[in-house]
Order: sequence, then structure tokens, then C-alpha cells
Amino acid sequence: MAELVQEYLDQIRAEHLGNTGGALADYIPELARVDPSALGLSLSLADGYIYESGDFTTEFTIQSVSKPFTYALALDRIGQQAVDAKIGVEPSGEAFNEISVDKATDRPKNPMINAGAIAAVSLIPGTSADDRFAQLHEFYSAFAGRRLGVDHDVYASEKATGSRNRAIAYMLQSFGVLDGDPEEILDVYFRQCAIKVTSTDLARMAATLARGGVEPRSGRRVTSAAVVQRTLSVMVTCGMYDAAGDWVSAVGMPAKSGVGGGITAVLPGQLGIGVYSPLLDDKGHSVRGVEVCRSMSASLGLHFLSVTRESRSTIRAAYDARPGVRVYELHGDLLFAGTEQVLRNIEREYDDFDVAILEVSRVDDIDATARRMLAGMREFLNVAGREGLLVDPDDTLRVAGVPNSTARVFGTLDDALLAAESAVAARRNSDG
Ligand code: GLN
Repeated sequence: MAELVQEYLDQIRAEHLGNTGGALADYIPELARVDPSALGLSLSLADGYIYESGDFTTEFTIQSVSKPFTYALALDRIGQQAVDAKIGVEPSGEAFNEISVDKATDRPKNPMINAGAIAAVSLIPGTSADDRFAQLHEFYSAFAGRRLGVDHDVYASEKATGSRNRAIAYMLQSFGVLDGDPEEILDVYFRQCAIKVTSTDLARMAATLARGGVEPRSGRRVTSAAVVQRTLSVMVTCGMYDAAGDWVSAVGMPAKSGVGGGITAVLPGQLGIGVYSPLLDDKGHSVRGVEVCRSMSASLGLHFLSVTRESRSTIRAAYDARPGVRVYELHGDLLFAGTEQVLRNIEREYDDFDVAILEVSRVDDIDATARRMLAGMREFLNVAGREGLLVDPDDTLRVAGVPNSTARVFGTLDDALLAAESAVAARRNSDG
């Protein structure tokens, strides 16, 4: 039944594939040479389960999507107080490469613009550029759960052409924000921008943030929950630069974009999204990346201010009530991520039952996405030669306007069990 979610993803990708608006970054030749039509989309759930669609194996440079991770590393290594002394957390409302500091404090306004990102590099304790980069490289790789590569051509080009970033670094030095040699710090910054990722890496890195710093597949803690909380906070307010307000309103997920065409978005506690599409708008965001995130948020109900409730522990109990009859008791609020878990559990087990009874009388609230997904599940079970029964005394699952054609709905578990017994008996008879 994972294919139900897979279909959503493929559908969303297909909807946006025809949008060829925007332009490739061309400040260095390497970025202007990539395939403009690529569109990769990946979704990692909080347990590490991944959905992928399109060009999800294509590697591209992480560019500014690196900034939250370097900021997190600085926080991790020297603590929030020391980082706050050098980098603010206020949205700048300016372009990412603005040569500016906060007028009142003389610090970069936030770590998501280049000035703040370069300052963040300088805060990583290290004996040399290589040492700093090695720490950063390892940290990003731990978030992704695999060793990431580096695009040496992009690094060389960034370094050869980075006058504006040089201007920023020397300006920061003049304000006393940068300790150390600006050229050495810039070298690390250029290398960090050239780290190679796929949309799936970005989804996995986002999922590690969604899990409060624990990489879902290994269960390994990469950084503390406090570091993640601070990092996600600045992603909310500053991650999309001068488009931050529009992004939070329309998409409602902490996110970061980069001129390589990547966007990463985090739904805390639930999931991480990675998108790759290299055609950019005039603010340097992936045009289709933004559109895909908007669609996913709207159609799957992912806005973080509408998902303030517990929605993960939705299976309260699962047990075999009779031979061939498995009961799944759900509770809490059913939203996308929780329902996805339910579907995957039932899919894993459907070889072991003839009839599944979904007991939803303890479900408090359910959104339209979850209703559609559960309706799809009933069809899936029927196609697989199983039966799905529903105990739904309050009619919580009824989709307005859609008759419950394939489901049989009962007011109590006992009634459903009686029906399940005769369904199992009928199946056994016809089999035997
Ligand atoms: N390497 C680019 C720069 O520093 C990254 C910018 C971005 O992705 N927004 O200018």
C-alpha cells in the first residue's frame, strides 16, 4: 500500500513536469551545464522509510542548502551563546548574497544568508581549512546517512569567481566578526557549497532534523535536540530569504533552498522532503521545487501550523481476534504521516489475515488526506483478495460525497467480528 503514497508523489511530480519557467544558475559554468528538465522528489518518513520519484539519483551541488547544517555544527561545537555573539537570528528581507550586517549589532543578520554562513564556518573550531572541512563533511554525511561526495570543479569555480563572497568575508573581518584568515574560511565555505547530494539525500537530512537530530535508519544521534530546534527556527524565519513570509504562509515547513536547484523541507516529528529541479526564479529558488513543496503541503496537509497535534502513534493495538481476522485499533488524530504508518503496517501483514478490521472509534480527528488514503486502502485489500471492515460508530471516515462502496461499516467491534467470521468461513469453503 506504500504505492498509494508513491502514486501521490508521482502525480505531484507529473503535474509540475511541464513547468519550464526559470533559468539555470550561470555564475559558474558547471551550474549552467546541467539538464534543465530534471525533477527529482523524495520524501523520508520519520522512521527512515523513503518514497522517491523522477530524477532522485541525480547528484547536484548542495549550495546554500548547506547553511543550516554548518550553523548546526557551529552550535553543536561551541554552544548557542558563543554563536549568538557573532550571528543574529533576524530575517534580513534581503537577497542571499547581500553585503550587509545588522546596523545595531554589526553581526550578520542570520546564518541563512551568505554573510551569516561564512561567519558560521569561522566558528567551527579547527586547526586548518582541511580540518574544518573534514568535520563539516562528516557532519553533513551523518545527517544523510551516507558519505557524501564533493564536486571539485564546482569548488574550483566557486573559489576562482567568488569576489562577492570575498567582499562579504573581508567586510565581516573589518567588523570583528571573523576570527581567522578570511581566505581560509572562504575556502571551507566554497567547498561546503560543492558537496554533492541527491533529492533523497536532502530528504534524509531533513528527516534527521525532523527527528530532533537522530538519523532515522541508524538511530544514531548526530546532534542535540536543542541544536535542531534552533536550526529549524532560523530555517522558518530566514531559510527562503526574502521569500520567507510567502513560504511560511503557503508551505508552512522550515526549509532551505540552494542555487544548485535543491530544496529541503522539514515537518518536525514527521518527515523530510528533498526536491531537485535546477531552473531558478529571480531569488535563486528552484521554480518547480517551490511549486512541488506547495502542492505537497496543500494536498497532504503538511503545514506545520495545522499539524500541531500528535499524529504518529496512531496504531493503539493490533491483534488477531479470530483465526484470519486481524484487528487494528487506531487512536489520536489521523493525518498524513500517521495514516502512512498505518497503511505500511497493514501492507506488511496482509499475508497473515483474510479480514482486517479497522477500529476507528477512538480516532479524534481525521483530515481529508487520511480519509482518501484509507479509502484507497480498502480498495487495495479487495484487489489483494482480502476484506477490510470498519468499526466507525461516529462515521468519522466517511468522505463527503463518496459513498462507502467497498467498505462495510459497523457500529461495534462485536458486529464486525461476526461478519468477519462468516467472511473467513465463506473464503475457507470456497478455497477448500
Ligand atoms: N555558492 C553560492 C554562493 O555562495 C550559494 C548561494 C545559494 O545557493 N543561494 O553565492
